Amino acid sequence: MPLGTKKGMTLLPIPAPTYMPEYRTSAKIALETALSSAPAYRTWRRYDRGPSADIFERYQAMPVLTKADLREHQPAGFVPEGRDLASALARGEVELVKTSGSTSDAVTNVWCQGWWDASESSSWKLHAATAAARLGDHREAILSSPRCVGFASDVGYLSMEQRTLWHYLFLNEKADPAEWSATLCDRMIEELGRFEPAVIEANPSFLSVLCRHAIKRERQVFQPAVVTLTYENPSLIHLRHIRSVFHCPVIGSYGATESGYVFMQCEAGRLHQNVEQCHVDFQPLAPRHGGPMLGRILVTTFHNPWRSLIRFDMGDLVRLAAEPCPCGRHQGLTLVGIEGRIANATLSSAGRLVTQREADAAIAEVDGIDQYELVQTGAATLSLRYASDTGDPAAIEIELRASLQRCYGSSVKIIPGHVQALSPVRGVKYRLTRAEFEIDVHDLLAGSP
Ligand SMILES: [Zn+2]
Repeated sequence: MPLGTKKGMTLLPIPAPTYMPEYRTSAKIALETALSSAPAYRTWRRYDRGPSADIFERYQAMPVLTKADLREHQPAGFVPEGRDLASALARGEVELVKTSGSTSDAVTNVWCQGWWDASESSSWKLHAATAAARLGDHREAILSSPRCVGFASDVGYLSMEQRTLWHYLFLNEKADPAEWSATLCDRMIEELGRFEPAVIEANPSFLSVLCRHAIKRERQVFQPAVVTLTYENPSLIHLRHIRSVFHCPVIGSYGATESGYVFMQCEAGRLHQNVEQCHVDFQPLAPRHGGPMLGRILVTTFHNPWRSLIRFDMGDLVRLAAEPCPCGRHQGLTLVGIEGRIANATLSSAGRLVTQREADAAIAEVDGIDQYELVQTGAATLSLRYASDTGDPAAIEIELRASLQRCYGSSVKIIPGHVQALSPVRGVKYRLTRAEFEIDVHDLLAGSP
């Protein structure tokens, strides 16, 4: 039975993914290990259809794991019984890592570096450039919030040596790109030239700021084999800045601290599931909100001896590809793209879901906007703060109103505000779009009243 269907429901035109026999085995082991031995899933056992049922039907019969569940059972409830977490922590085999999201409270995760490295390494097979680059102990420069990864310093600056760990160089110690000086941006460009990384891994909002500096000052920037974008869903505006500086493949990589690497963009621009490391359940949205090709995803991880994660709601919406990808990869789900977080969703004046990707496309049509933050303050009111290096605010705002009204409805009131620069939420991540009222995903899903 294709994903996204249930007995008694109308079959939806969702392409059925293909899976190898070893995938089914990994999916079975992950589910049975969690149900039999991870305390957090004890109450899930009653939903199991049993070992003779199809493994994907067994998955679909299970509840959804939420961030609230992670908080409630953190971290020991997800460790399979018989494993001694205290000893493993003392030996340094695992660590406890807190995730610091932009929209909800922190969760403590058991972090197993070997599992993470395996997840990253298998994701590299999903793009020809990363598959060919012999990655592993390559030099990699990272540009993201130092409150997420790397070394933060709120007072002085840190030397290149102080920001280097193993084969990684963390380019910045300052969490707010709005406060990056021209000297700091020049230092990052100069360090890229000295370090010569094979890979630049970046938060696209942060890299976009550095690229705007390079464009404005006409700086030459070292070209790695690839740029991978992660931490946030990139805006088309970010991609424009990044692609005008970096001429190598710029690859979207999707995952999370909890899930590892889940999807990676191939050379044809689609995103493929990291089938060696995870299972993904897709739940379509109702047609009036863009379903059935648009939906949310629930991720199950494979091969993590220290943490059972089953059907974890990533909080993101994705769009399935209707056709096989021209790159030839066919296992697991293939996506046209990540549509953005449910927490960043907004609604049209008619009450239809507008994803971050859809709002972003409308804003990116307007010439001259370099950064923005769209907040839906009421059912028919949008406030948009934006930064522009070169544009004329009067011309921008005329175009902006027209473009956003095409997307949200002609009765929607647009309140623009020109600012010098925008800062990430709590110095961690930018939120490009959001509503000030709650949008419950259960109201968007297919089958909702
Ligand atoms: Zn492909």
